[in-house]
Amino acid sequence: MKLKHLCLWLMLSMTASVNSYAKETAYRLSTFIKPSFQQITLKVDPDSPVFSGETAITIDVTKATDTIGFYQKELNIQQAYLSKGDTRIPLTVTSHEYEIQHAKANQNITANRYTLHIVFDGKFNTTSDGMYLSKFEGLNYIFTQFEDMYARRAFPSFDEPGFKIPYQVTIMSPEKHTVLSNTLVKKRTLKDGWQTVEFNKTKPMPSYLVALAVGELDSYDILSLSVPSKIYTPKGQAQRTKFAAKNTAGILQNLERYFGTPYPYEKLDFIAVPNFTFGAMENAGLVTYRSSLLLLEDEPRLAEQSSTLNVIAHELAHMWYGNLVTMAWWDDLWLNEAFASWMASKVMMDLYPEQNFIGRLVQEGAFGADASPTVRPVKKVVKSQTDVMDGLGLNYSKGESILQLIESMVGEKSFQKGIQMYMKNNAWQNAQADDLWKVLFTVADFDVPAMMKTYLEQPSYPLIEFAANGEVSQSRYHLEGAKVEPQTWIVPLAIRYKKNGKVSRTNLFLNEAKTTVSELAEADWIFPNENAMGYMRWKVSTKQISALLKDMSLLNVREKKSLLYNIEALFSAGEIELDEMMAAMDALVDDSDPMIGSAVVATMNDFLYLVDVNNEAMFGQFVTKKLTPWFERLGVVDQPDDSTDTTRLRGSVYGMLSRYANTPQVEQVSTELANKYLADLTSVPRSIATRALRNMARFSEQDWFTKLKDYYISHSDASTRGTISRAMIFINENKIEKTLDFALSEHVSPANTINTVYTAMSGLDDHTMFYAWMDRNFTALSKKMPAYHMARMPEYFSTSCDADNIKLAEKFFADKKANFEGMARSYDIAIYSAKQCVSTKEANQDSFNRYLKQVTEA
Ligand SMILES: [Zn+2]
Repeated sequence: MKLKHLCLWLMLSMTASVNSYAKETAYRLSTFIKPSFQQITLKVDPDSPVFSGETAITIDVTKATDTIGFYQKELNIQQAYLSKGDTRIPLTVTSHEYEIQHAKANQNITANRYTLHIVFDGKFNTTSDGMYLSKFEGLNYIFTQFEDMYARRAFPSFDEPGFKIPYQVTIMSPEKHTVLSNTLVKKRTLKDGWQTVEFNKTKPMPSYLVALAVGELDSYDILSLSVPSKIYTPKGQAQRTKFAAKNTAGILQNLERYFGTPYPYEKLDFIAVPNFTFGAMENAGLVTYRSSLLLLEDEPRLAEQSSTLNVIAHELAHMWYGNLVTMAWWDDLWLNEAFASWMASKVMMDLYPEQNFIGRLVQEGAFGADASPTVRPVKKVVKSQTDVMDGLGLNYSKGESILQLIESMVGEKSFQKGIQMYMKNNAWQNAQADDLWKVLFTVADFDVPAMMKTYLEQPSYPLIEFAANGEVSQSRYHLEGAKVEPQTWIVPLAIRYKKNGKVSRTNLFLNEAKTTVSELAEADWIFPNENAMGYMRWKVSTKQISALLKDMSLLNVREKKSLLYNIEALFSAGEIELDEMMAAMDALVDDSDPMIGSAVVATMNDFLYLVDVNNEAMFGQFVTKKLTPWFERLGVVDQPDDSTDTTRLRGSVYGMLSRYANTPQVEQVSTELANKYLADLTSVPRSIATRALRNMARFSEQDWFTKLKDYYISHSDASTRGTISRAMIFINENKIEKTLDFALSEHVSPANTINTVYTAMSGLDDHTMFYAWMDRNFTALSKKMPAYHMARMPEYFSTSCDADNIKLAEKFFADKKANFEGMARSYDIAIYSAKQCVSTKEANQDSFNRYLKQVTEA
């Protein structure tokens, strides 16, 4: 008996070591077989669950072999062979790890040029990735989402970004459909109710940028572009794209000016895709968007224009950065995204100053996740789809912040010169992040590559401490009680300080653990983050903070916001007391700038983990006291001359009050707004409507579940559905369960399932009922949701600041997390952060309650 166990153990351990060896070496295709052109023919009928196709890939074999590697996933390979002139070499295909296929010949394949032919068929996906079926208003559509590694689900391919080749796509489909791909139609022939649409050959591009769409689509012309351009929509929706169409030319021309080269492709189409998992995707010449971004009113409210414009600018920036110049491997995808985000912000500042992007602190969106001991560096080893997606959201904002920081140091003009040089050197080719740092080094007066290494090849960011004697030191920032390794960065500091009543400034490159800057000794105050460009936190003495708060008029809006967030971060790190934190908030709450008001409300939001049934009433009084002046000034009705910041602040002040201080006055306002919105969707801004409906869902005696559900079903518009579903936060368990069931119904699309479930469960204090529901419905959920959402499930569902809820999550995911790629990693992140929250709560609860008592009794 014992022996048997031992043998089994030995066998298992041997298998494990063989596998791990394979993993180290075999996650990419060999480099001695190079594709140079691929033809793809697909037969696509949206009303059929299956498709078929064949592909011919020109390859150069540079070293004799008997095996050709390529990728495919979930396809059925019917036939594969190599051809050279009249010679045919049959191939036998077997599947291997990382979705790599080995097509083996029973003879030697000598070094030469061949064509690899593969005939295949497959099923359309229904979870919004790969080549997938999307149902909308009773019609079926086929769309694609190939980034990162899903082109291989539609056709066999050399599906790595480093293989940048021209494609020629041909689609056969029933005649009634519009068929789109990356290029213009070369030839269309009709036969027996079917059409064969042959597209022009593309420019060289990676497989993840290939795209197609088939369905009864309508279109609206985008004018004033140097290339043909249209916005396609599901049937009957084209007239709703006027706003996007009107703004596209300006954005594209702005980018052409910045890069100093024209738009690189022969046409530019957009598609409003119903049920899209991501925001948008920059397929060369055929950009897909979540439909809510393109289908708008003709003149949307100012605040409702921002994401559409920003996302268009982001996707179009990718046409150069990512498409014209592509990362050599997925480990540099972060730079694609960081660059497109950074570029889009620049376009927004340039063309739409009223959106006030100049006041945004991008780094604040990264600091939270980037502080965790579980975080990985931006630049890391990437082998699979899961590795690519790990931390990608954080990398958008961290990467953008770092680019913004370098630009502020190099200067706008020199930075642009560097970017143009980089584009010119690498056009139509692949490049690595290091190539960009090297180019920027030529226009900078500091060692860009060395500095980049410290931010990108290690996780997190520094806390810079200024001592009274002028000593400046750095350590890794972390939340109170977290254990982290010692690290140092190369930290550029633009410092303003006041000494003996006089304000001065100085620069410092801190590239060691500590140094001494004698001029900073005995300063009245120090502000080391000029224009809030730094990717760091900083600490000065309590006395210096008080002195700085008195001189706050010397700071600009970005600096004031960053000061408040920095002080809050010091409190979270256990570096200062709550009173000191709240003193900063008090000093800013009366500021007349709505951006500062929003920062104050955001800070209040960050304390919600300390609010529970025991102190909720006191917290309600606290927010009433602090926010009523703003509420009285702003009201709930938008005014014609409101800035976007005013609108945002109005929404967040009203949101906080309607949730935590539901006075009869607030409740009456909410009831009126909710009913007004449902009667006329354009009568109330969506941000206000969501909050009013939430107030009804939470407090009203009436059956708002049925009301909201019916409304959702009878309105197909994505923005309206978003507003309604975000409001479905009930506290009655019966209604919560009905909402969870609703998320699984056919009315909620796969891409929106996770948000609907998350919204529903967020009404629960105790997660017992939720996990019981999950136990019953997990299989259905996993069949419905996109793989990426399945992987991230723990981060969505296990965020809790309650030890009992964490135990429930641990029990639930114990036997599931290994079965879904990426889930174990998401689980580790979620559970760590939930446990961190519990310990922070224990540390801060008493002082927070004392503070609330003192303020509300005063
Ligand atoms: Zn992007």
